[in-house]
Amino acid sequence: MLKRAGRSTPDFQASDAAHHLHPFTDHGALNAEGSRVIVKAEGIWLWDSDGRKILDGMSGLWCVNVGYGRRSIADAVHRQMTELPFYNTFFKSTHPPAVELSEKLAAIAPPHINRVFFCNSGSEANDTVIRMVRRYWALKGQPYRNVIISRQNAYHGSTMGGASLGGMGTMHAQGGLPIPGIAHIAQPYWFDDGGDMDPERFGLKAARALEAAIHQHRPENIAAFIGEPIQGAGGVIIPPDSYWPEIMRICRAHDILAVADEVICGFGRLGTWFGSEYFGIEPDLMPIAKGLSSGYLPIGGVLVSDRIADTLIKDGGEFFHGFTYSGHPAACAAALENLRIIEEENILAHAQDTAIPAFARAWQSLADHPLVGEARSAGLLGALELVPSKPSRARFPAIGDAGMICRDLAFENGLVMRAVRDTMVIAPPLVITQEEVGMLAALARKTLDDTLAVLKRERLI
Ligand SMILES: *Cc1c(COP(=O)(O)O)cnc(C)c1O
Repeated sequence: MLKRAGRSTPDFQASDAAHHLHPFTDHGALNAEGSRVIVKAEGIWLWDSDGRKILDGMSGLWCVNVGYGRRSIADAVHRQMTELPFYNTFFKSTHPPAVELSEKLAAIAPPHINRVFFCNSGSEANDTVIRMVRRYWALKGQPYRNVIISRQNAYHGSTMGGASLGGMGTMHAQGGLPIPGIAHIAQPYWFDDGGDMDPERFGLKAARALEAAIHQHRPENIAAFIGEPIQGAGGVIIPPDSYWPEIMRICRAHDILAVADEVICGFGRLGTWFGSEYFGIEPDLMPIAKGLSSGYLPIGGVLVSDRIADTLIKDGGEFFHGFTYSGHPAACAAALENLRIIEEENILAHAQDTAIPAFARAWQSLADHPLVGEARSAGLLGALELVPSKPSRARFPAIGDAGMICRDLAFENGLVMRAVRDTMVIAPPLVITQEEVGMLAALARKTLDDTLAVLKRERLI
């Protein structure tokens, strides 16, 4: 048993239950079992406090794109902490890591995007989006243009603004959300909502819900549309190819801003720097976080197009917004080293040429399993739809039970795979090798077999 400071797993669990409130957690259920204690990681592998080795199919939480154990990121952070651990970027000040990271992000962003506003998380990035979008239209003399349209089942973070932009009913039900001025349209989720339509026609229909919402709230009031290129937390919902071009056409036709939430899709997840590139989206704003530092330190930001930046800068005066740790030097140093690794190790090329094709094949091979109604993937994002009787796309009567059983069995088998209701989702690190993809698929298949056995035993199928 691996021990840290002489403490055992039950000791950690007892103290965790006594003093630690976890995010998105039912503590009754958690404390009945005890937290899993993760103590170290290397490459795509985790070890728990009992010494078990687990394949991290979720890249931490969609973020450890370059894998664990990157000594050079730790060294870069150490150097920066020794030289300048902190200075703010408020009072006409800047520092080398913030300058260099801004420069780097401008270089990899689409040509019409040349500036970044830093914050510490994806949620703060999306709160920044709300304020920046509304500020932009106010400066344009159209302050009534303040409605932001998002999608049901979108995830844009957990702050008041982020959760309001998001379309999670469970989150809105706690704490009086959404805040005013946010509207939600249907998501492009063919598997659940496509009925008899072919996916491309359904994609157009889902996109045209934006047009209907624009008219419902009146075009002159609409500030922006926000969407994740692929919805992550909602269940790796990959829109049909027809979807994004139609969304962009509608945004342009009504001159409303397009916001691509790149928090998951950015930094190589789809084999491109950004999900926008993958789908041909031309966003006015791109919130970023997660893969920006591969999770080594917390950092987020909003990439800002020239159209918006020029207005804020030329006509704006002071924008009363920012965070103490906007552009934190150590976090910027971590992000810079992470981006250097992605470039120098040709990680995008590895993803495109090796990891993604291997993953797509391996993942698709699970489609023949009796529990799997659909296996889909794009880049290094994958989902399996668990259903009781394929080829029907009908769901289990008690939604979420099969997913939870499958998720727990995955852990027991040594694979982190997450359940969103009865959709299993996966997002392995970009550095995953062909051999490791094979291991991932074998663990996933064993887990599906075990899940089927449990469902039969419990008479849930
Ligand atoms: C995770 C996530 C966020 C929120 O990021 P935090 O760093 O957890 O605040 C926002 N948008 C998307 C698309 C995400 O996946």
